[in-house]
Amino acid sequence: MRFAEGTLRGASLKVRASILLGGTLFIPGAVRAADCGSGVDLRLSSPATAQGTLLLAEIRSAKALGEVSGRWSDRDVPFWQEHGKKAAAASGDAWNALLGVDLEKAPGEYEFTVAGKLPGGEAVSCRAMVKVTEGHFLTESLTVKKQFVEPNPEQEARAAAETKRLREIYDRVTPERLWNGKFRMPLVGDFKGSNFGKRRVLNGHAGSPHSGVDFPAPTGTPVHAAQKGRVVLAEELYFSGNTVIVDHGLGIYTFYCHFSEIDAKLGDEVEAGAVLGKVGATGRVTGPHLHWGLEVEHARVNALDIVKVL
Ligand SMILES: [Zn+2]
Repeated sequence: MRFAEGTLRGASLKVRASILLGGTLFIPGAVRAADCGSGVDLRLSSPATAQGTLLLAEIRSAKALGEVSGRWSDRDVPFWQEHGKKAAAASGDAWNALLGVDLEKAPGEYEFTVAGKLPGGEAVSCRAMVKVTEGHFLTESLTVKKQFVEPNPEQEARAAAETKRLREIYDRVTPERLWNGKFRMPLVGDFKGSNFGKRRVLNGHAGSPHSGVDFPAPTGTPVHAAQKGRVVLAEELYFSGNTVIVDHGLGIYTFYCHFSEIDAKLGDEVEAGAVLGKVGATGRVTGPHLHWGLEVEHARVNALDIVKVL
């Protein structure tokens, strides 16, 4: 993980407002330093904060810090501590959180606020302004026969019910972190993922943007869980065909679909790398591939980011 320190490269991430650490400003352009307790320091990783990306936040405190909370995009941001890395007294306390920037979040400046309590009950808080820039996504225009564009009423009702169920799944934030360590790619071998955020214009009508990464691969290629978690869906859906969703805790979900067969069951506790199913072409697709999605507190994010950022 890399953190912006000293200078920020480019203008993609503008962070105002942070904290005085050892008398020097940690992030340039900081204001409202007085709002934060001394010895507490907020950092943000420095990938471009374009639509559909992931940011890693870190709070470091010279003293033990408790009751750490955050707010981003009108949602509570759960923080976690790395086990076994619990800071020795000299280096204090460290907390991390992931901020998802939804692929359709309007470009602009958004506030990220954090708060915590020092020993003795002293409250600390600070805020950073994060600039979200436009993502560069491809647009594809297609003209196809009407029956491929418009599901019949029965299919439409089914798809609507499934969309609602998916939303209900993503609404649940498991308070514990179920993953441990880095996230991995779901396929073994030299497979390239693309198409994230791509917009399809079918017969002149713009569809919703493509919220996952597609990996063309031969039917039967095993698909692995990107990290530890719990299987919260394992069944055939209208659009995505044979689908598996893994809950990694703290509002983080990975989504894998179009499987030829599903090898996981609802409720399974899976390890990182567990085989969830095999690549296929089920659902509304034209050829075998894995579609891999990532949701972070309801933000649809490029799944490749979680492999890079953590
Ligand atoms: Zn896809």
